[in-house]
Amino acid sequence: MERLRFAPSPTGYLHVGGARTALFNYLYAKKVGGTFILRIEDTDPERSKPEYSEQILRSMKWLGLHWDEGPYYQSKRMERYREVVGYLLDNGLAYECFCTPEELEARRKEAQKQGKPYKYDRRCLYLSEEEKEKLRAEGRKPAIRIKLPDENPDREIKWHDLVKGDISIKISELDDFIIVRSDGTPTYNFAVVVDDHDMGVTLVMRGEDHISNTPKQIILYEILGWDVPKFAHIPMILGEDKTKLSKRHGAVSVEEYKKQGYLAKAMFNFLALLGASYEENREVYEPEELIQLFDINKITSHPAVFDHDKLRHINREHLKRLSLEELKRELEPFMEEKGYQWPDNWEVVLELLRERAYTLLDFVDKGDFFFTDDFQWDEKAQKQWEKGKDMVPALADLADAFEALPQWNAENIEQAMRDVAAKKDFKPRKFFPIVRIAVSGKTVGPSLFHMLEAMPKDTVVRRLRKAASQV
Ligand code: GLU
Repeated sequence: MERLRFAPSPTGYLHVGGARTALFNYLYAKKVGGTFILRIEDTDPERSKPEYSEQILRSMKWLGLHWDEGPYYQSKRMERYREVVGYLLDNGLAYECFCTPEELEARRKEAQKQGKPYKYDRRCLYLSEEEKEKLRAEGRKPAIRIKLPDENPDREIKWHDLVKGDISIKISELDDFIIVRSDGTPTYNFAVVVDDHDMGVTLVMRGEDHISNTPKQIILYEILGWDVPKFAHIPMILGEDKTKLSKRHGAVSVEEYKKQGYLAKAMFNFLALLGASYEENREVYEPEELIQLFDINKITSHPAVFDHDKLRHINREHLKRLSLEELKRELEPFMEEKGYQWPDNWEVVLELLRERAYTLLDFVDKGDFFFTDDFQWDEKAQKQWEKGKDMVPALADLADAFEALPQWNAENIEQAMRDVAAKKDFKPRKFFPIVRIAVSGKTVGPSLFHMLEAMPKDTVVRRLRKAASQV
């Protein structure tokens, strides 16, 4: 049975790239009936923070990326890493290195000056016990390096990457890399191998920025005599300007998209399209469909581009698919944050607003006038209002006409508006926008007569009178 994992380092929020990696692992595992494991790689004591772990878990739950096992925390597995290191040291497969970061840096600079690639020169491999004791007495704390099996420098470390194809690198391009830092914490390349082995991971799928780590990990499997899992390195995500996706391109944390009013399902759908294809000429999918259609062979090897308009389009389509009850539920936190109240006819209001909505925020921002008297006037509305000032006093006449209506419906509303416009000799196309602005603060919105019909008559009348009295 296939076992996959998502192994984020809690050194920042779950961002779009990490979420896409998690999603591809999830889709693959679900598709083949495998297991999806969550492992938090929190061995870097300086950069890992518990609040990031919590945020990662929260974002994954929100997206619907439910893990079958874990979360495992590397910080709770230190004993196991020590055990493996003990084995490596005892068998001469790893050794203590007393060189300080400053010394290493100086040697790197020196190599650079001479135009040579820098490699650790193994000087600590040959230290005698007395020399080690002396260094320890100086207060030096050793790091631990793996001893590369490089008797044949031309030997190639190879793997068949399920996305990138065959990859190989000569062992002479590597050096005795550190597996335990001088503070006793294991490095990523070491802990990841111990964990992937112990957790029975069969396929390691991760961002292509890890390709350079893979040969080191393969060597560790080899030295430890463990089975090497399959590897798949998925393409980077670029911003629309084709540079690596970063904060410059707007939101990158998943939680930020939630705040901006994107549906979890839409985000799931959008992320699944970043670097993979499903059916031709189709963009909108339900999560279950993506599980069925996911195919690792259809992951592209070139970078994916984050297309913001596409995300908006997909979100809009998923908004349309929600039932009104589901939509109301999704909007609840946004309404609460603004302190807005649901009108009795919320279903009608939501139908009207949905026609123009791309995000959940659009409902509360573009539709604020349905939920509060304290609605925002947008810039365009201000300008148009100034231009139509001469028509504003007539809003009081319209308020009278509305009050006199026997029935509050779109047809009667339209007739009353046309009558007032005719009486005052205003062109409807000039007058009607002034009415819209007075009651909603916007120049665009749902069809005007239906919009008014969906509002309580006394609210409309009150807003018209207030606007008329302000000239
Ligand atoms: N902790 C690593 C990261 O967040 C995991 C890489 C891997 O999947 O092996 O980049």
